[in-house]
Amino acid sequence: DRLRLDDKVAYVTGGGQGIGRAFAHALGEAGAKVAVVDLVLEKAEAVAHELSLKGIKSIALAADVSKPKDVQRIVDTIVARWGTVDIACNNAGINMNSASEDTSLEEWDKTFNVNLRGLFLCCQAAGRIMLNQGYGKIINTASMASLIVPHPQKQLAYNTSKAGVVKLTQTLGTEWIDRGVKVNCISPGIVDTALIRSEALQPLVQRWLADIPAGRLARGTDLQAAVVFLASEASDYMTGHNLVIEGGQSLW
Ligand code: NAD
Repeated sequence: DRLRLDDKVAYVTGGGQGIGRAFAHALGEAGAKVAVVDLVLEKAEAVAHELSLKGIKSIALAADVSKPKDVQRIVDTIVARWGTVDIACNNAGINMNSASEDTSLEEWDKTFNVNLRGLFLCCQAAGRIMLNQGYGKIINTASMASLIVPHPQKQLAYNTSKAGVVKLTQTLGTEWIDRGVKVNCISPGIVDTALIRSEALQPLVQRWLADIPAGRLARGTDLQAAVVFLASEASDYMTGHNLVIEGGQSLW
């Protein structure tokens, strides 16, 4: 079965909740060993525990993906434990919300540090292991906001960082494919997770809901088959692709 991931070694950043948690379960159920990585160790541990209850081999690791030492430490730890990294799911991301004229440099930098610098660091650290073994699958989490500007706006740093995720994915995907490393990204629409549950975002969420042909927000489960596909040999001819899963929202 070309969609199985048996004996593969995977990690998921931002795996402690939301989309990353859904990805960790999906990869584990497909047969991979999964390192759950999160800024908050307790969250990573809780998800690793859920996986272990299903008989999935898992470990929990704390890391801030924007810090080079943290990223190198998680990759080194996974290699020490399981011998390699085959599947890198670079999913950690943050979303802040302010009118562009009021966006502080702190907000701009923080968004880019997690969403883009973090992704670069993870792709590079995991990519070196993968290039060395001549095989690897990198799956980055971008966003529908990489393609369209969901209205009303006020997401300048977020949207811009996510467009960067797509270009990073395309560039690495073409640079590394002849050495066996495929780099793709998933662009979810509006997913019902903590990321969009803040008080401030509620008026926006209501507007977005009206823009979704599917008539509902996405759930983590709507994205699970996609991450397994991109992690599996079934997608070996795909690289630099942005797989958009948004209930038709970007088409309206
Ligand atoms: P979430 O806030 O529910 O979960 C994000 C997780 O990442 C949290 O557990 C958090 O602790 C962790 N995290 C935050 N900063 C980190 C860091 N510096 N290092 C390591 N871990 C860190 O968010 P989510 O909705 O699950 O989003 C996951 C990804 O999906 C993000 O990249 C987000 O931009 C993207 N996304 C989300 C939506 C949505 O509507 N929810 C839509 C499109 C894309």
